[in-house]
Amino acid sequence: MGCGLEYGSMGPGRAMSATGSASVADVIASLTRKVADFPKPGILFNDLTPLFADGDAMGAVTDALAEIASGADLVAGIDSRGFLVAAAVAARLRTGVLAVRKGGKLPPPVYAEHYDLEYGSATLEIPAGGIELTGRRVVIIDDVLATGGTLAAASRLLERAGADVTGVAVVVELTALGGREAIAPLPVHSLSRV
Ligand code: AMP
Repeated sequence: MGCGLEYGSMGPGRAMSATGSASVADVIASLTRKVADFPKPGILFNDLTPLFADGDAMGAVTDALAEIASGADLVAGIDSRGFLVAAAVAARLRTGVLAVRKGGKLPPPVYAEHYDLEYGSATLEIPAGGIELTGRRVVIIDDVLATGGTLAAASRLLERAGADVTGVAVVVELTALGGREAIAPLPVHSLSRV
């Protein structure tokens, strides 16, 4: 239970409460901590820590994302908050999970993809050995979609490794930042749009 609201799995997109039902989007909104000017001035940071720490909310988010990702045979999570959700979804679907790491965390050999951030640049990596990705149907999961640069880079990385990326799914989509357009034509599924 969190924020005085009770909820649990009640099918796609809905969560049960003691007095009725709340949409998963409402549950996400009620358990998101919005922090102005973090990590840089002008950024409104969506901190999902309270959501992840709430068992019923995490269950509802996992159910909804698992429904979106059904049909995938591998779920990829983005370093680092994406790992939490992707692992939960993979366990629910009984697929494997692949951690898409920030640069420099994995031993060689790796596939690496560089991309631009609002300020500066970053690198994502996956192993180039030990895991066969050719022809695997992969859904990529992250906590928040902002400009889309991170998920677009992750998608390029997996495609280079031979995977068939069928879509991306996020808990929160920040619509004003145009991430969906940056990732097109790859389908983007979001549980809440703010
Ligand atoms: P982007 O590449 O711009 O779509 O940024 C997405 C990545 O940065 C995700 O892994 C998010 O966790 C994080 N991120 C970007 N902007 C925010 C924000 N306003 N609140 C929370 N996380 C964010």
